[in-house]
Amino acid sequence: MLKASVGAVEVTPLLDCAILMNPRTFIPGHGDEFATEFAHMADERGLMPMAVTCYLVRSAGRTYLIDTGLGGRKRPGFPGGHLDQSLADAGVAPSDIDVVLNTHMHIDHVGWNTLDAPDGSRAAFFPKAEYWFLEDEWAFWMQPEHLEAPGNAHLSECAAPLMEQGRARLVKGETAIDEHLVYIPTPGHTPGHVAVGIASQGERGVVVGDASHHPVQLVHPDWSPSFDWDPVMSAKTRDLLFDRVIDEERTWFAGHWEHPGIGRLIRLDGKRQFRAL
Ligand SMILES: [Zn+2]
Repeated sequence: MLKASVGAVEVTPLLDCAILMNPRTFIPGHGDEFATEFAHMADERGLMPMAVTCYLVRSAGRTYLIDTGLGGRKRPGFPGGHLDQSLADAGVAPSDIDVVLNTHMHIDHVGWNTLDAPDGSRAAFFPKAEYWFLEDEWAFWMQPEHLEAPGNAHLSECAAPLMEQGRARLVKGETAIDEHLVYIPTPGHTPGHVAVGIASQGERGVVVGDASHHPVQLVHPDWSPSFDWDPVMSAKTRDLLFDRVIDEERTWFAGHWEHPGIGRLIRLDGKRQFRAL
């Protein structure tokens, strides 16, 4: 199994599922441009191969899981996730996870937080873990208008029960997670969205969450996906993050880029490019 290291921190990509997105719906207004200019990034049907990848991070004696994918529930219009199998393949038991870090609270990032028990209750899938959410993100999604909106059942299934069970911890942006990991506020995709910065032994990395969904955004940072809460803010955040990652020579971990989404961003002849690990 592929593993990357950033100094003493070890990062293992775990695939929840591969996905294919239609550029016309995913990046509204830019589908035709994508089809003509970036045909080499599309499959034979013109779809964008992407992924839902979670990252297992071993840092400072603790085992973290950054995001938990779509989960095992059947949801109309969504594939089922297989993070449980990917964990097993990596030799990791759910009880090995000390802390779950949710970069934000969308359906494809909190799915395996819980499992449905036969009695209708929701049990934590990671039985020993503390689940960290950003305070701003929690406050936004837990407003009744969002909590009760169609398509948001995952909030009641995968987030709220953890608070009721005393397993959720709300933290503020820019919080140090441990001596190597820190939250980097990257708002726009959602109000409280964060990336996770890694720094150890002079090396640096970043797990980007949904600050970027596809490498085409290196050239077109303003191609914000339809899922972005504030597409103007997300474009600005994305643009700044790309430049920061290049300047700081950080290893890049992007869960929605084609699995495993790991490599380096570089600037060549003034243009940003991705070099996969
Ligand atoms: Zn996502």
